[in-house]
Amino acid sequence: MVSRDLEGPLPPGSIIGILGGGQLGRMTALAAAELGYRTHIYCPETDCPASQVTPLATHAAYEDEAALARFAAAVDVVTFEFENIPLMTAEFLASSLALRPRPEILAICQDRLREKDFCQSLGIATAPYAAVDGPEALARHARDFGTPAVLKTTRLGYDGKGQVRIEADSDPETAWAEMAGSQSQATGILEAFVDFRLEISVIAARGLDGQTVTYSAVENQHENHILRTTIAPARIDPVAAAKAKDMARRLAEALDLQGLLAVEMFVTADDILVNELAPRPHNSGHWTLDAGPTSQFEQFVRAVAGLPLGSTAFHGRAEMQNLLGDEAACWLAILADPDAKLHLSGKSEARPGRKMGHVTRLIADA
Ligand code: AMP
Repeated sequence: MVSRDLEGPLPPGSIIGILGGGQLGRMTALAAAELGYRTHIYCPETDCPASQVTPLATHAAYEDEAALARFAAAVDVVTFEFENIPLMTAEFLASSLALRPRPEILAICQDRLREKDFCQSLGIATAPYAAVDGPEALARHARDFGTPAVLKTTRLGYDGKGQVRIEADSDPETAWAEMAGSQSQATGILEAFVDFRLEISVIAARGLDGQTVTYSAVENQHENHILRTTIAPARIDPVAAAKAKDMARRLAEALDLQGLLAVEMFVTADDILVNELAPRPHNSGHWTLDAGPTSQFEQFVRAVAGLPLGSTAFHGRAEMQNLLGDEAACWLAILADPDAKLHLSGKSEARPGRKMGHVTRLIADA
């Protein structure tokens, strides 16, 4: 195949390919349209949030090389809206056109162990952790770390799935089986339990020319491991906020990122520890759609298309609430609130805990 690696800005009218068809892809496609681009969604599911908003879609398996080759020929650049697409898919596409962020970043961010090793290599703090390959190693490291500790699958875990809290009396065999779930070849990571004051995140964006910007550090409140509320900016002191932004910037630069990087962190009494990296738009950045000059989705498109990045200045306060499961049924009441901005993701089935949309409110200073 002929390599079509793009060096300069992508002209309006070009087609951005997006792997993944969820709500992040949908909001990216809408932002791309605002900048004059077309988008082509690639995902296995037929009725997905993203393909509802663009006429160009390929519905095929991520392993289908013939479909991937047709997709590659039909788009000018390609990106992804979630990090669990098979690495082989990313590498296959990157052999014929620009995939941004590059597959090596995906490889790091798909694996909690590699992610933490990468942070440590930069001197960026994480919780103490160890690779565990079975119940015996789990029992040994749990003795070293003390309990409680947290056992996580290194791959394919999200929203708390593949995660087990280890207590002094936990049975290692049972905990291991619970963590592995249906994964036949699961590998694990054991983390010391972090007694955090607050969970925060920072989204960094980096363009083709290396220009890097960061959004305000925001505060994230979870319920059953699922993000419930984001408060922007985080209620932490300015020194800690600047440190968190600097950590995200350093990670984006060290990864040689082209796109977005969301960095989830724990704020403890005396430090900030990185918990997880996501090389894509992030739920904790949805407030930027309604507050501030450049939404994370526009910024993502700018970075992937090789455009100058937009301003991330934000001097107000905003709160974003996810609408989970049947909470989205009260859409009419939310619309009746003049201070609320409603975003629905077009999902037809409201399963418990499923992210159906979100609502953002700007908060007036008291
Ligand atoms: P994760 O899937 O790693 O984002 O974890 C989901 C949630 O579990 C986090 O947002 C935290 O609330 C909690 N959690 C994860 N790792 C730890 C840890 N090492 N110590 C304490 N809480 C954790």
